[in-house]
Amino acid sequence: MKLAIYPGSFDPVTFGHMEIISRASKLFDKLIVLVSVNPLKPCSFSIEERKELLRETVQHEGLTNVEVDSYDGLLIDYFTERNADVIVKGLRAISDFEYEFQMAQANRRLCYKAETIFLTSKSEYTYLSSSMVKQIAMFGGDISDFVPEYILDRIVTRLKK
Ligand code: ADP
Repeated sequence: MKLAIYPGSFDPVTFGHMEIISRASKLFDKLIVLVSVNPLKPCSFSIEERKELLRETVQHEGLTNVEVDSYDGLLIDYFTERNADVIVKGLRAISDFEYEFQMAQANRRLCYKAETIFLTSKSEYTYLSSSMVKQIAMFGGDISDFVPEYILDRIVTRLKK
């Protein structure tokens, strides 16, 4: 059984993340979407809120081999604990590449078994990021093109607080 982990902030989940989740879930027997705690990145949604939004999305899309979890520690420790095979990352543009390349090299240095596989973004989502969605919502803009309608109200209400 091939187990993959897709880590990120998911603050909040967007169509860009969902597209990667859906494609990765078809490539591996099981996919864990991991809400990772990055102490260097301030987040707007709590870990529990981010997991809840992801769980609802995964359920709504009928992705039965996808689990949502969170981890407050090194990704590679979680990867080893779960005996995973692959780390999945999404690549939007060259701007993502340098950081992701560095992370993949560092993770393999920490654990030789840790292969990172990159899925390139669907062209219409290459510009899409959680921070862009948050900025638009905070100023009362329409984010219905970026996040699913069944979680839209919750995201908007939460960001207006
Ligand atoms: P962001 O806050 O920039 O949206 P995350 O930390 O939540 O990013 O991203 C987690 C993973 O999802 C990363 O591998 C990132 O490259 C990928 N990702 C984020 N947005 C997209 C998108 N629009 N298309 C493809 N991959 C994406």
